[in-house]
Amino acid sequence: MSRKTTPAPRRPAKKSTAATRRKTRADADAGAARGPVPALAPKAIEEAFRRFHTANPTPKGELEHINAFTLLIAVVLSAQATDAGVNKATPALFKAADTPAKMARLGEERVRNLIKTIGLFRTKARNVIALSQKLIAEHGGEVPRTREALESLPGVGRKTANVVLNIAFGAPTIAVDTHVFRVGNRTGLAAGKTPLEVETRLGRVIPDRYRLHAHHWLILHGRYTCLARKPRCGRCIIADLCRWPGKTVAA
Ligand code: SF4
Repeated sequence: MSRKTTPAPRRPAKKSTAATRRKTRADADAGAARGPVPALAPKAIEEAFRRFHTANPTPKGELEHINAFTLLIAVVLSAQATDAGVNKATPALFKAADTPAKMARLGEERVRNLIKTIGLFRTKARNVIALSQKLIAEHGGEVPRTREALESLPGVGRKTANVVLNIAFGAPTIAVDTHVFRVGNRTGLAAGKTPLEVETRLGRVIPDRYRLHAHHWLILHGRYTCLARKPRCGRCIIADLCRWPGKTVAA
């Protein structure tokens, strides 16, 4: 008589290494936003920006524009959309209208058609027309140079105002988008639970001489190197300075 053997109980499948690494990075990011990543020392911050400057002395934003008005429109259109997606739609839009007066004349329906490949295009088309009309009525058709006036325009928040003040008017403002928020929190450069907290801290710690280009360096670093899911720590020029526990190279 043959003996029946009881099959060994199945072990739960192990999570893949990649999944474990992703969870570790996500946990580290969540922790970073709460503040446990050690803050970078002033010398390390100076060194990080010295390297950003050496690698790319005059960084540029990636939104196509012709003048301050088209920059403002491009930034408004870029909310919850990629710069590449906005750049596909704006050449035709700016060819048809590169001033507030021309944009107001173009009208909401035609603007809507020209930007329909961009997310939230209906609301954005409404805002583009309303802000063009407000620029004509209250600012002589010019883009204002103050934060208050910019933020009073339809569809314009603090981040958009910071980008316009920086790129169009050379103000040392720091626009905190998703990339700057992540890089600030991860590296120990500027921890904060909100974009405003990160912006305020960046404003305190970045040496004055690097302030004008700081947000471009941080955006580009977040967009091309310190990616959300798979940071390229092996090719990161500040890897030895970064304090993030989830980084994939040794300090
Ligand atoms: S070492 Fe990695 S986590 Fe740190 S800044 Fe560089 S890419 Fe980002």
